[in-house]
Amino acid sequence: MPATPHWPPKSAPRLFVPTALDAGVQVDLAAGQANYLGNVMRLGVGGEVLLFDGMSGEWLARVADSGKKHMSLSVERRTREQEKVPDLWLAFAPVKRAQTDWLVEKATELGVARLLPVITQRTIVERVKLERLEAIAIEAAEQCNRTTVPPIAEPVGLSAFLKSRDAGRRLYFADESGGEPAARAFELGAAIILTGPEGGFTDEERAAIRAAQNTVAVSLGPRILRAETAALAAVTSYMALAGDWR
Ligand code: SAM
Repeated sequence: MPATPHWPPKSAPRLFVPTALDAGVQVDLAAGQANYLGNVMRLGVGGEVLLFDGMSGEWLARVADSGKKHMSLSVERRTREQEKVPDLWLAFAPVKRAQTDWLVEKATELGVARLLPVITQRTIVERVKLERLEAIAIEAAEQCNRTTVPPIAEPVGLSAFLKSRDAGRRLYFADESGGEPAARAFELGAAIILTGPEGGFTDEERAAIRAAQNTVAVSLGPRILRAETAALAAVTSYMALAGDWR
């Protein structure tokens, strides 16, 4: 039998707001958030909410005023300092919509600092809806207690990505044709993990990536993983070996 949900919830709801937070600041919520707090969470005047703005940690706020379609909050005090996430970026070839949504949600939970969609020769999606992906990253950050939301860059082609990258940031390239085993590959320091689309990289792309400076081809084992699984397996390995799970 399913357990009876605890009501009221044990912890205060947690929301990202695009407003610089400080003690005494008043925050007028967007209609969707006001509806969520007022009608779903049934929060009235005086109710507690945790807020973060992606820059200044987490803050306790209270409902100061609420109506049918609006709610304003008054910020009281900081409850947590801004966190530091490992300096790991994930560059991924976008895949089908549901799988890309899942990738963005899970990469946010796992703690990546930045997401970069990279269009390769075999990428089949035609459009990446950045706003939708940003909303997914925000929701994941709210849920997993992050105080940062990873920015999602505009998609770029693979050659532009290779040309514009800072070679001081090590590029770990997930290569299903073989490479350094993941258990040995990841080292401390600023990094980007790059993973391919459903059809993989072409030989020409693979050669261009391998020729780029400060690049390590990484093997994620003997099985061919789906693109989104490979991206998250690589991020997980990095977090365990060189990130903040150590
Ligand atoms: N079509 C390719 C094939 O059959 O060989 C498979 C591509 S795979 C579905 C998509 C991406 O996931 C690859 O480009 C690579 O970046 C990554 N990947 C999948 N399995 C991997 C593995 N065992 N080691 C390293 N990378 C892997």
